[in-house]
Amino acid sequence: MFPLPPAMRQALDAARDAAARGEVPVGAVVMCGEQVVAVAANAPRALCDPTAHAEMLAIRAAARALGRDRLEDCDLWVTLEPCAMCAGAIAHARVARLYFGADDAKGGAVEHGPRFFAQPTCHHRPEVYAGIGAGESAMLLRDFFSARRAG
Ligand SMILES: [Zn+2]
Repeated sequence: MFPLPPAMRQALDAARDAAARGEVPVGAVVMCGEQVVAVAANAPRALCDPTAHAEMLAIRAAARALGRDRLEDCDLWVTLEPCAMCAGAIAHARVARLYFGADDAKGGAVEHGPRFFAQPTCHHRPEVYAGIGAGESAMLLRDFFSARRAG
């Protein structure tokens, strides 16, 4: 087994932190070249904000850190296939490349459901790389939901 790219390693660590706080374990990292610009974890419960997905928080933090609303020279790493809302935000932010871990057959909107970036109305399509760290990401989610069912 070859090591994961450091950005996905960091996103998985953020996802694990989210689980420890009772949030669905999803983590995201924005990279600008080799530089980490933002790291975020899913936090809708803590923030009382249904839009506080890891990708949204990471994109907002990165844009603030860089002082601009376009991230066309940035890459987003996230442990789970983005939903429709986050795919929309990725397009609005003009993210160059999207790397994601586990597939989300129920809530994903990149390779499932609306397939947002494939729609003719989508004005920006990042390069998409799927399945990076997918096993570990899926295991975090499985453990989280099975612990909740047991509890
Ligand atoms: Zn989302």
